[in-house]
Amino acid sequence: MNQIPSTPAKIELGHVTHLYLSTSRAFMAVKDINLRVEEGEFISLVGPSGCGKTTLLSLIAGLERPTSGTILLDGKPVTGTSPQVGYMLQQDYLFNWRTIEENAFLGLDIQGLRNKESEEYALHLLEEMELADVRKASPAQLSGGMRQRVALVRTLACQPDVLLLDEPFSALDYTTKLKLEDLVFTTLRRHKKTAILVTHDLSEAIAMGDRVTVLSRNPGEVRSELIVPPHIRESLPFAARNQDLFQELLQQLWKEMEVIADEPK
Ligand code: ADP
Ligand code: MG
Repeated sequence: MNQIPSTPAKIELGHVTHLYLSTSRAFMAVKDINLRVEEGEFISLVGPSGCGKTTLLSLIAGLERPTSGTILLDGKPVTGTSPQVGYMLQQDYLFNWRTIEENAFLGLDIQGLRNKESEEYALHLLEEMELADVRKASPAQLSGGMRQRVALVRTLACQPDVLLLDEPFSALDYTTKLKLEDLVFTTLRRHKKTAILVTHDLSEAIAMGDRVTVLSRNPGEVRSELIVPPHIRESLPFAARNQDLFQELLQQLWKEMEVIADEPK
């Protein structure tokens, strides 16, 4: 074959299938997933509960190895975890015996990247997230939204160029969630990150993503993809919800999810 070489995608999954194995059975979590995410793109991933979204993120993060198929980052196979990939979860996993500042340095400690320069960068991020005043406080003194901002700083402090976000806003109250969506959106754009956001909130998926990838019921397969039009993509998530066509897209995605839910197993 005579193919014209193209620049590798930031993240590329080719025919990825993953089975969880126990002594008595094999359970297929995701099946034949093909997904390409370009550098700087922000993808939302939605699908019914248990369809394999977290599994996919764990595979990309190198925490699990796929049973079959390939996962490439910058064209190179993923062989394990790497500082290049940051992972943010619904739970913030802050340590109460460490100050906010020390929590922000935790990723640097774990990755062996802590030095004067990286500490300064983490402190700069704390400032960007309006957390400078609580540097010396304990996580127990902070609200849920502030704690999740600390978790984001901890992730960004290691300067990953890929961010995997697994329902990071779902434990927050609605107003805090909307504010944090805007903050994460602007921060990731400013720092030119590539990101995959898993969410069960369909309006959040459209408001934050350049594209929304829909997975079918377990085992998860890519079922469809919704391209978010530029005028919505370029608005901050909160304002995006009031843009023309937003409600139509939401209806479309909603219907799709209902069809998936009604399909026989
Ligand atoms: P989602 O994040 O979309 O809710 P998950 O990726 O967590 O889905 O799980 C996909 C499927 O794989 C589920 O049916 C879940 O029960 C199963 N599963 C997840 N982790 C494991 C595991 N470590 N061992 C066995 N089965 C698992
Ligand atoms: Mg999950």
